[in-house]
Amino acid sequence: MSLRPKILIVDDNISNILVIEEVLSDLDVELIRAKSGKEAIEHTKNHEFALVLMDVQMPGMDGFETVEIIREDKTNLLLPIIYITAIYNENYYRTKGIKTGAVDFITKPLIPDLFIGKVTLFVNLYKQRIILEEEVQKRKEAEEEMKLARDEAREAARAKQLFLSTMSHEIRTPLNAIVNTAKLLKEENPRPDQKEDIDILEFSAENLLHLINDILDFSKIDAGKIEFEAIEFEIRKLMNGILQSFDYQATQKEIALEFKVSQEVPDVIVGDSARLSQILINLVGNAIKFTDHGKVLVETDLLSENGKEIKLVIRVSDTGIGIPEDKLNFVFESFTQASSSTTRKYGGTGLGLAITQKLVELQGGSIEVKSEVGKGSIFSVTMPFIRSEKDHLEEDMLMKSTFHSLAGLRVMVVEDNLVNQKIVTKFLMKWEVTVDVAENGKIAVEKARNNVYDLILMDLHMPEMNGYDATLEIRKMENNPNKDLPIIALTASAFIEDREKIYTYGMSGYIIKPFNPSELYWKIAPFLRT
Ligand code: ADP
Repeated sequence: MSLRPKILIVDDNISNILVIEEVLSDLDVELIRAKSGKEAIEHTKNHEFALVLMDVQMPGMDGFETVEIIREDKTNLLLPIIYITAIYNENYYRTKGIKTGAVDFITKPLIPDLFIGKVTLFVNLYKQRIILEEEVQKRKEAEEEMKLARDEAREAARAKQLFLSTMSHEIRTPLNAIVNTAKLLKEENPRPDQKEDIDILEFSAENLLHLINDILDFSKIDAGKIEFEAIEFEIRKLMNGILQSFDYQATQKEIALEFKVSQEVPDVIVGDSARLSQILINLVGNAIKFTDHGKVLVETDLLSENGKEIKLVIRVSDTGIGIPEDKLNFVFESFTQASSSTTRKYGGTGLGLAITQKLVELQGGSIEVKSEVGKGSIFSVTMPFIRSEKDHLEEDMLMKSTFHSLAGLRVMVVEDNLVNQKIVTKFLMKWEVTVDVAENGKIAVEKARNNVYDLILMDLHMPEMNGYDATLEIRKMENNPNKDLPIIALTASAFIEDREKIYTYGMSGYIIKPFNPSELYWKIAPFLRT
């Protein structure tokens, strides 16, 4: 506290003031004089006082009146005031004094020691109050700063999220075009030397895509943005789907790929099937990547059960290169690879296992690894699920696994990007689908009014009218069979919020761009009218 406490001495008689000043001269305080009530009121407007010493009898405005006016100012409500008076008619003065909030009465002549003692008491109280006020002020400022920092952090996280979602869209769209153009080129009988270049193109673009997906996922987990769904799914079917999706890769490398689910594991369980797939795809993908001979085996067992809660253990083992013991502890860290030659030889970012571990742990599970160089690795995931009441699910439209011909299906592709239009159209035409293209939502609605289709593939971000609004318009059409058509969103966004939005707007499903041809096929095929 830098300023000295101030005491206001109010008395019409200067010699009285001088006496008080003399008595208090040893105190470390600033004394301010007022020779009338008016002057005193003026001072209280301009200064903050620790104490007021108020003479009662003064010509014009007396001490009581002065104090009443001083108290009108709310900031002076608690200002300590001591009346100093020569006449001491106890009852009368006391009552009046207490009404105006006096803290004490002192009669003249003053007894110096007593007087100094009382004044010192109030000065100390004032000092303490100031210290407390400063403390409160500091806390308020710190709180304010914290709030500001929190708001800034929130804003930054939001901006990051927006940036990621925009970038994911912006980057995935052209990548979609590159990957799929490469696939198309390969199917058009290129010369052998061209084929090699196309392979490199495809491999690099797919790698880049993988990297972007990983980074997106990682930052989502990092931002605590990840939410898990609890849906019923058939674990054996899920395993089978993953097995099939890696079949080609395993066959190419001439390694065996086997999935086993033990009998005790229920058919239908509740959990986040999409995240489980992601976990398995990472682990099986790695196992195949780092194995050149032998086999990759995925075994699922029931570890324990407690009422409806079950714990599954899924072991992904391979007979690959293995991981050196001193690196075993680090493989789950982000951007870590077991050896620096790994990137050169196998590609990858070192994010896959970091994401996998987080996905497992955030769902209450755990993951561990055992490995021996040259012999292979075993990644074991233990995760809780809920046992469903059902022993099977209605045949899931999207899971129908028999191949249907798409020939003759009439599909409207709503897409503003020319390259994407061309790619989707080319694939669809390969399957002998009749394709009609609309460049934006508005045209799509118009076309839906006048033509007959079996299905619509709808991009979401488009000029004129976006995919959401176009879907709403189509769903509102009266007396038009197109109003109930399956509408599948083509989206570059992997964010869960966007996925939910798709269904709220009445769409039937979604395909995340860039899609691979078989994904496109499997999303469309179930809607075929059989
Ligand atoms: P990456 O994208 O590099 O595969 P991961 O986080 O998935 O990133 O894996 C980190 C590292 O762990 C890999 O680079 C590799 O060195 C090692 N690794 C992971 N799985 C296996 C496996 N099945 N066999 C041998 N090494 C593995």
